[in-house]
Amino acid sequence: MSRTFPSTVDVAVVGSGPCGAAYARILSEKRPDLRLSTFEAGPLLADPPGVHVKNIEDPAARERAQRRSEGPGGSPRGRPGTFLLENDALPAAAMSSNVGGMGAHWTAACPRPGDSERIGFLPGLDELLDEAERLLGVSAHAFDDAPFAAEVRKRLAAEFDSGRAEDRRVRPMPLAVRCEPDGSLIWSGADVVFGEATRRNERHTLFPEALVTRVLVEDGRATGVLVRDLRDGGEHEVRARRVVVAADALRTPQLLWASGVRPPALGRYLNDQPQVVFAVRLRDVGPAGTDPRGRSKIVRQSGVSWVPFTDTEPCHGQVMQLDASPVPLAPDDVPAPGSIVGLGWFCAKDVRPEDRVTFDDEARDGYGMPAMRIHYRLTARDEAALDAARAAVRRAAAALGTPLDDEPITLPPGASLHYQGTVRMGAADDGTSVCGPDSRVWGVEGLHVAGNGVIPTATACNPTLTSVALAVAGARAIAEEV
Ligand code: FAD
Repeated sequence: MSRTFPSTVDVAVVGSGPCGAAYARILSEKRPDLRLSTFEAGPLLADPPGVHVKNIEDPAARERAQRRSEGPGGSPRGRPGTFLLENDALPAAAMSSNVGGMGAHWTAACPRPGDSERIGFLPGLDELLDEAERLLGVSAHAFDDAPFAAEVRKRLAAEFDSGRAEDRRVRPMPLAVRCEPDGSLIWSGADVVFGEATRRNERHTLFPEALVTRVLVEDGRATGVLVRDLRDGGEHEVRARRVVVAADALRTPQLLWASGVRPPALGRYLNDQPQVVFAVRLRDVGPAGTDPRGRSKIVRQSGVSWVPFTDTEPCHGQVMQLDASPVPLAPDDVPAPGSIVGLGWFCAKDVRPEDRVTFDDEARDGYGMPAMRIHYRLTARDEAALDAARAAVRRAAAALGTPLDDEPITLPPGASLHYQGTVRMGAADDGTSVCGPDSRVWGVEGLHVAGNGVIPTATACNPTLTSVALAVAGARAIAEEV
């Protein structure tokens, strides 16, 4: 039996990742009188909607959920839960299609942006980040008792802290993870962002497997969305007073393009964070099997530490103590839990309008939407930033112990999964941005954009906390106006 879609809502949200969910949550809290619908192209994976797949205990069910997130049949597989956008310029570019979006698969690192990563023209950024932390359930204490985590930070601090402001010193990585009294960890997905306020809101409806093919625009005003029910192919027009497109940094500009909303900056300033990885074994931490807490069972093995970005050292360092070595060790060599450390150093891209996603009106992607073409190049500045990241990661490795490989590995463009800039925010409508400080698209009344694409600065830190903060500001603007 075909589903019933509403003919009219107050706010239509496209995409159910953390940013779409943030709109639904804030509006549910502030304006429970409004009728809200969230349309999501991908399937519902598990209950509650948007749950992180790591919280699915049964490995077969988890694997099935990952597979179901990997887009239309035939798309090449990326990291589990993602599918690749086939292209040469950004070969590791990937997306997720499921309720919860990439937020059902992410690592949940939620650092705050610092120095030039911050959006200078945006008032109240810190309060918005506080609110984003509340929505995502961020804590810096989930791995407090991880073996050797304090030692890792002590060694990194000795190497990197000199001359840094207090809030930019080495510290535990804030993570959207909750630790239960029994020691188990619950990873925040969009379910946590939706929260009880949205789930209890009888005026909010989530439609999985509902692809929005067009935002309806009449006389310079968004008036609704055209939805294709992917279960039966039916087309439905849903009128709305406000439309929020939170369909990731590649598909948000795609939907605007498909809707005839084509401001000059659309799809431009695309940036991904060039990334270098290395692995190291901690020196002098005791023999295999050592549990530094003196107990026999390691409950939480993985500590995550953070070397923050600064303008002087413009890389973001993510330091993860691993459960197992990423490279083969001798068979009789069993490392102490937490003593193998993965180092991931992210760079801020040299942001340029030439780096862009364009859309082909003739060719179609697996969903029947305008096919994407990526134009993207690392500049001499990017190569210099990568050299600096390789040097920094070698310093970190030397401070911690013995590298497991000879040289750091530079990952292919797109591997960070942090695509930004394509619907960027600006202080003024001067052709270099798509939306204003409250995420409202310039020149189209009633249309908001959300997600990492809105971030206008060259960030090296993981972007989701920032884009959820921007979504909070946008949702508050709608709550006040409608
Ligand atoms: P998404 O979560 O991508 O959700 C967008 C949703 O929109 C998708 O479900 C998609 O199906 C839907 N959609 C697209 N087009 C349409 C349409 N036309 N109609 C209807 N629905 C549509 N970020 C961090 O900050 N920290 C991390 O540690 C981190 N680790 C990561 C690790 C992995 C393995 C992955 C995959 C990602 C990671 N990320 C991390 C990135 C993070 O998940 C994203 O930044 C975040 O999910 C973005 O949220 P979003 O709501 O903007 O978009």
